[in-house]
Amino acid sequence: MQLEAVIGLEVHAQLLTDSKIFCGCSTRFGAEPNHNTCPVCLGMPGVLPVLNKKVVDYALRTALATNCQIAPYSIFARKNYFYPDLPKGYQISQYEKPLAEKGWVDIEVEEGERRIGITRIHLEEDAGKLIHEEGARGAFSYVDFNRTGVPLIEIVSEPDIRSPEEASEYLRSLRDILRYLEVCDGNMEEGSFRCDANVSIRQRGEKGMGVKAEVKNMNSFRFVQRALEYEISRQKGVLEEGGKIIQETRLWEESRGVTISMRGKEEAHDYRYFPEPDLIPLKIDPSWIERIKETLPELPGERKERFIREYQLPPDDAGLLTGNKALADYYEKCVKLYNKTKIVSNWIMGEVSAKLKSKELEIEQCPVTPEMLTGMLKLVDKGTISGKIAKDVFNQIWESGKSAEEIVEEKGLVQVSDAAEIEQIVDKVLADNPAEIEQYRAGKDKLLGFFVGQVMKASEGKANPRIVNEIVRKKLGR
Ligand SMILES: [Zn+2]
Repeated sequence: MQLEAVIGLEVHAQLLTDSKIFCGCSTRFGAEPNHNTCPVCLGMPGVLPVLNKKVVDYALRTALATNCQIAPYSIFARKNYFYPDLPKGYQISQYEKPLAEKGWVDIEVEEGERRIGITRIHLEEDAGKLIHEEGARGAFSYVDFNRTGVPLIEIVSEPDIRSPEEASEYLRSLRDILRYLEVCDGNMEEGSFRCDANVSIRQRGEKGMGVKAEVKNMNSFRFVQRALEYEISRQKGVLEEGGKIIQETRLWEESRGVTISMRGKEEAHDYRYFPEPDLIPLKIDPSWIERIKETLPELPGERKERFIREYQLPPDDAGLLTGNKALADYYEKCVKLYNKTKIVSNWIMGEVSAKLKSKELEIEQCPVTPEMLTGMLKLVDKGTISGKIAKDVFNQIWESGKSAEEIVEEKGLVQVSDAAEIEQIVDKVLADNPAEIEQYRAGKDKLLGFFVGQVMKASEGKANPRIVNEIVRKKLGR
C-alpha cells in the first residue's frame, strides 16, 4: 500500500520587544536569575496585566507577511495547568478567537513551489525556566522567572506538509520572514524559535486523517528533519505490520536517534480554557493594520525575484543570498560599488561564506567590508593582480584590515604582464623540462597545462596567465 505522511507544525517565536507582554520588565537575555521580574510576571495576587502595544505590532507584521486575515476582535484566554515554572498556575494565551487566521507561506522544494497554509497566529506569554543541578551537596532544582511573560507568537500550520524536507524548508522560510521583519531572532538552538510537529500517516489520495502523534524537543533544523524521518518510518512500520497508531506526545531523543512516548491521550492535559477576565478584547481597527502595512519591508521571496531580475542571478544564487537579510544587504552594497553581479555573488557565496563559517561569524561581523571586497575585485579587473593572488589578498585583508591596494603594494603582488619578463621565465621552464617538450611535440596536448603551471609557480602566481599561455604556445610552436 502507498502511504503518505501528513505533517503540521506549531512554531513558537519569541518577539524582540524590549519589555515583556503584560508588564514593563526587561526581556534581556542573560540577566541574573529572577532579576527581570515584578509582581505582575511573578503572578502575585491582585496584580493586573497591561498589554504591550509593541507586541501586537510585531504579531501584526508577521500576520500580514504570511498573508493572514486579521481578526477585528481577538480574545485572551487562560490556559490552566500547574508547573513550577508557571507561578500564576495559568498561561495567558489566545484560544477561540486568535489574532490572525487563514494565511500561507510559499516554499520551494525539488518538485517545485508548494503553498503551506497557516491555520492561525496567536499571542501568548512564555513560562519561566527550570534548572536542575547535581553537586556535592546533592541534587537541586532552581527556577528562573526572567523568561516568564516574555512575548511569544504561536504560528500553527495546516497539515499541508508531506515530508521532512518540506517541513525543514517551511521552517527556514518562516524564520527568514521573521528575521526580515525584525520581530524574532530565529535562533532555534537558544530557544527563541521552537517547533513541535503533528505527524500522521494515511493512504495516498485519502482525504481523512490518520491518528497523529505530537513530536516535541527538536531544537535545530537538523533535529526536526531527523525526528520526522524517524517518526514517519516508525508509524509506517506499525501500520504495515497491521498495528494501530495511538494518539500520544513523543519526545525526540537526539542521542539515541529515536522518539519516545511521553504521555498518551488519557494523560493529555485538559487546560480548561476560559476568557481572561483581566484583559479586554483586543480590538484592531483597519487604520492600525494600514499603519503596519506601510512599514513592512521587502520580504525574502520578493527580494529573491528582484535579485534574479535586476542582477541576472541564477535562482540558486538569489535564493542563498536573500535567505539572510544581512547577507543580501552586503551583496547589494557590493554591487553598487562594482557592477559585475555574478562575480560578486561567486565571491560572497564562496570565499566570504567559507571564511565566515570557519570563524563561526555572521556576515554582520565580517571584517572585510563591501568597499574592501570590491576594491580587490577592481584590481583583478584592471589586471593588477591575478585571480589566484586575489584569494591570498582576500585573506590578508581579512587578517589585517588593510585595503587590497595597500597589501598588493606592500607585498609586491602586482601581476606581471610584461611579455619580456614572462618570456624569461618561460625560457627557463622549457630549458628545465626537455623530456616534456618532446612528449608535447609528439602529441601529448595535456602538457600545455603543465608548462603554464610551472611558469605560474616560478612567478609565485604573479604572471598574467593569459600572457603566459600565449608565450608558451608560441615557443612550443603548436
Ligand atoms: Zn514583570
